[in-house]
Amino acid sequence: MRLLFMGPQASGKGTQAKIISKKLEIPHISTGDLLRNVEGELKEEIDSYMNQGMLYPDEGMIRILKERFKEDDTDNGFILDGFPRNLKQAEMLDEITEIDKVVEIHVDEERTIQRILNRLNCPNCGALFNAVKHKPKVENICDDCGSGLIKRKDDTEEAIRKRLEIYERDTKPVLEHYKGRVVRVDGGIGIKNVTEAILEKLKV
Ligand SMILES: [Zn+2]
Repeated sequence: MRLLFMGPQASGKGTQAKIISKKLEIPHISTGDLLRNVEGELKEEIDSYMNQGMLYPDEGMIRILKERFKEDDTDNGFILDGFPRNLKQAEMLDEITEIDKVVEIHVDEERTIQRILNRLNCPNCGALFNAVKHKPKVENICDDCGSGLIKRKDDTEEAIRKRLEIYERDTKPVLEHYKGRVVRVDGGIGIKNVTEAILEKLKV
């Protein structure tokens, strides 16, 4: 089954993609991870865009995905996470593969904002904590490496609202594009229940 996972920031999309990937024994292909982990010439090319503060072009991403889909572990499908983010990218993706189902993880906007505002980041090891739901053992200190925790500068309420707005604007046409193949799941019912809901809706 070739799946696409979609959901706004802090929807639990990445977490669910990992869990479902294990359950269905298909790889979780995160485009963010793909870009971070490339090596050699391609890495230089990608870095040159990033260093200029530019987004890596869609054509390049499609090339990387096309190569990734050729690997044996995708014979029974995959979970694609992070791409496409807009209609143009969805149309480009159609040319290299066919998506069977789109899992849309829906979350209540106000709850998402609270979740992000309470988030604490470890600048050293990348561990994530939450000032309410997943407190570090010692206040503001990373459990894993002992560094001081910070809030991301762009995690202000205004910036989060703006990002959610952009997500909504760009993904609506994508979901419309995959009409009839979209299963919608409420992301606010707890990790285990979300997983069950996804599996149930995919009927696997
Ligand atoms: Zn840490």
